[in-house]
Amino acid sequence: MSDIIHLLPDSVANQIAAGEVVQRPASVVKELLENAIDAGATDITIKIVDAGRTLIQITDNGDGMSETDVRMAFERHATSKIRNAEDIFAITSMGFRGEALASIAAVSHVEVKTRRPDDDCGTRLVIKASEVESQEPVSCAVGTSFIVKNLFFNIPARRKFLKTNQTEQKFIFNEIYQIALAHCGVSFTIYTDENLFAKYPETNLKQRIGAIFGRKLETQLLPIEGQTSIVAIHGFVGTPETAKKHSYLQYLFVNQRFFRQKNFQAAIMRAYQNLITAKDYPPFFVFFDINPAHIDVNIHPTKTEIKFVEEYNVVQLLEATVKHSLGKNNVVPSLDFSDETNYSDLFATAAGRDVKLPSLDINPHYNPFESSPKSTSAGSGIGGKSSFSMPHKQSTQNWEQLFDAAPRQAAIPIQQTFRSALNNEEHSQQETGMCMQIQKKYILTQGKTGLMLIDIKRAHSRILYEKFLAQLQCTKQLTQRTIVPIRIETTAHEMSVLQEILPQLAELGFEIEHFGNTTFVIHGTPADVEAVQVEGIIHQCIAEYEEGKAVNVHERIALALAKSAALYRNPTMQPDEMQIFIAQLFQCSEHNLSADGKRAVVLLDYAEIFKKFNS
Ligand code: ADP
Ligand code: MG
Repeated sequence: MSDIIHLLPDSVANQIAAGEVVQRPASVVKELLENAIDAGATDITIKIVDAGRTLIQITDNGDGMSETDVRMAFERHATSKIRNAEDIFAITSMGFRGEALASIAAVSHVEVKTRRPDDDCGTRLVIKASEVESQEPVSCAVGTSFIVKNLFFNIPARRKFLKTNQTEQKFIFNEIYQIALAHCGVSFTIYTDENLFAKYPETNLKQRIGAIFGRKLETQLLPIEGQTSIVAIHGFVGTPETAKKHSYLQYLFVNQRFFRQKNFQAAIMRAYQNLITAKDYPPFFVFFDINPAHIDVNIHPTKTEIKFVEEYNVVQLLEATVKHSLGKNNVVPSLDFSDETNYSDLFATAAGRDVKLPSLDINPHYNPFESSPKSTSAGSGIGGKSSFSMPHKQSTQNWEQLFDAAPRQAAIPIQQTFRSALNNEEHSQQETGMCMQIQKKYILTQGKTGLMLIDIKRAHSRILYEKFLAQLQCTKQLTQRTIVPIRIETTAHEMSVLQEILPQLAELGFEIEHFGNTTFVIHGTPADVEAVQVEGIIHQCIAEYEEGKAVNVHERIALALAKSAALYRNPTMQPDEMQIFIAQLFQCSEHNLSADGKRAVVLLDYAEIFKKFNS
């Protein structure tokens, strides 16, 4: 019988090994960027076509390679970064396994042009599926340019396994962000499908965070700093208000290398205890500088898990450092509305002398039951007089109980509805329907069984949410054209999200055109959104959308837009507006909670109030 064991051909062995390093286009971007950083580049250009399936090009102005080195670089275990096993324990560069280029070349078409500063002429090398096709001298700039085409052309199963372009592009940007955050001294220029996507010039950490994740976050960052004999910590954490429902903005770096570590994340979250809920994730960008001998980077093939020798001490220091920063910056827990003591504060203000009772100012032309939104009235909108038209709903069960009123009929004017809802024999006409705005935040009104406090922004988010959701589920909404097109600039990150949600925003009545790069132009808005506020609303909506957990895209969009638009409500309300507002709220299927499930209405029982005075 003949022997059965044989060696796999190199090309097959390389393909198999490549699977560990190159899982998707983002892996190629990561490896090539790390090599460029290791080569001392200060300026890196990234070009991505078709989310990296068709082309990934990374050009750097680093050290370049000699004619021999560029050929060697593609051999497995070829590296200039370590020479012996001990070196692994003192590793300061990003790479060291010498596997990346060999792996990439095994599953794609690669073209490299490279020149060292002292060489007159550079080298061009072409490799397809690990086979060298050509190598020749070429005139090129100092540094190295890698072009990786047709990734996984020889592994169709891998190609099929890739997700949508949008998702693959997100993976790519995550890699770019990790490297760009850790190397603020390096400038990055990013092109996607031939368009300039973003440019991050050389800067400091704070501004780099702002360039990537938005200028708003940049203004809400608190610096952190801590040091012991073994480790130094620096970076930024977000104020409690910046906490998100997701952990995408949590970045840890050790010696400028991104890593993940549950214990470190938990330590930072502990520092925020009582400042945010357990479900919220504060943004953080924390950098550890430590002697490489005190960490082990070799435990994970893609090197994002790192083991610290003195983990316990480092975690302790981390928690203390973040706590110190939060304390120093006077970050105190925000007042909880459900707290009893706050009620008394509220009432103290309400009873105070300087509280002005609102004067009555009724718009006689207003008809809240108009069936179509006022698509052409430029003055209508969230910031102006109430003008949102609600989907006609009969589900008013609870609010009738609350007011103990007769069932409503949809055709009667809303003011009247409100009055009749509040009205009953025990209250005189004057008392009923009287609303008072408190601290510009709440509406105080009286029902039959008690006083009712409504959180205006929360209630508004509910009204808008139900409206937007209803709109998304039926036909396209009317748009009010803006007189002058409004240009808005987004961050690179915001741009990809906005592109994703443009179709739904269009259904809601937004007319937004992608003007190239990170610029969008708004030609029209829904009737509920005023042109002057649209820029803020869009930025906010993107952030909210990202945080949203709902799987249903319509719900996520409606919630994101409702929450952002609610923030732009004009805080001062006229009595008639308050009445309409309350009636609209109680037409919602769930009127006690804001769009995102926070308490929007508090009822103070007359019996309880009575008890308070008589106990
Ligand atoms: P590693 O980075 O682990 O050493 P790679 O396969 O990524 O392994 O790269 C192999 C070698 O090729 C590197 O050690 C380096 O000497 C060289 N190299 C790769 N990319 C570049 C670049 N952009 N500029 C200069 N040299 C590079
Ligand atoms: Mg490398």
